[in-house]
Amino acid sequence: MSDCIFCKIVADEIPSRKVYEDEKVLAFEDLNPHVASHTLIIPKKHYSDIADGIPDDEMGYLFNTVAKVAKIKGIDKSGFRIQVNTGADAQQSVFHVHIHVLGGEPMNIGSPKREK
Ligand code: 5GP
Ligand code: ZN
Repeated sequence: MSDCIFCKIVADEIPSRKVYEDEKVLAFEDLNPHVASHTLIIPKKHYSDIADGIPDDEMGYLFNTVAKVAKIKGIDKSGFRIQVNTGADAQQSVFHVHIHVLGGEPMNIGSPKREK
């Protein structure tokens, strides 16, 4: 997709700090890390979000990349959290499917609760 920043990262039109890459997926450092270790994993093919649909084999491959990335980042033993923001309420800001891999420091339980 021509106007998608993550497609531009895949095409090397926007630079990124790559963590892992193969023919199907790319993992790179988040530009604004929320925690000490913050990596994004994306399919190289464009899918806007998981609600819109992504083929089973692509989804499986994407999620199996998490363990590889955690190992490369050295957070496989200490633990990590994965997050997939989807749509407006989750504040998805880039509409190219991505998994956040968060770790490198202790984290609080993180879902914002509605004000009572
Ligand atoms: P979302 O809010 O859609 O779940 O997450 C998008 C993430 O992409 C954000 O954490 C943001 O920091 C990251 N991001 C946005 N633009 C860029 C970019 O050009 N390069 C990198 N490396 N990360 C980006
Ligand atoms: Zn894209």
